[in-house]
Amino acid sequence: MSQELEVILSREKIEQRVAELAEEISRDYREHPPLLICVLKGAVIFLSDLMRFLKIPVEVDFMAVSSYGSATASSGVVRILKDLDQSIQGRDVLIVEDIVDTGLTLNYLRENLASRQPRSLKVVTLLDKPSRRKVPFDPDYCGFTIPDRFVVGYGLDFNEQYRQLPDICVLHNEG
Ligand code: 5GP
Repeated sequence: MSQELEVILSREKIEQRVAELAEEISRDYREHPPLLICVLKGAVIFLSDLMRFLKIPVEVDFMAVSSYGSATASSGVVRILKDLDQSIQGRDVLIVEDIVDTGLTLNYLRENLASRQPRSLKVVTLLDKPSRRKVPFDPDYCGFTIPDRFVVGYGLDFNEQYRQLPDICVLHNEG
């Protein structure tokens, strides 16, 4: 079986939108520089591009959670594989995520982090697939709303492959 990639969001389009998000975030957080929490691994490229467009001082930390394993269907089980290095009590926290799909991962993560008493807690996601929600979840900032297609590239993987692609692509399986 061969696999074909169809570009749905070009690198130029992504860069333009990430810059716009950074403008908005820089404005909203100018009084209170945020701690960015990157959800590994898919959000690393988004984080590193977003940070470089921000016009405010920021700190970063990383979390890793598992919800999918190597399959493409959500199990609904969220496990913390790597926790933060620091306390977020009293901090202005912005979670940086690659994609919201069923909403299960971020719903869990937001509740978990809220219990640690940050001063504020928001979410920025590059991509959103609202048609796939199993639990209600509204990101505070969103790059692109996309249809129910499995996408790879710009940090997103299929079985750990394709993360390095500069564009966001739909993966077609050709029989
Ligand atoms: P949720 O808990 O919202 O269903 O899932 C969020 C996670 O599922 C994302 O962080 C991502 O790892 C994975 N995911 C959801 N949709 C896609 C997709 O279209 N492509 C890839 N590569 N991962 C996805």
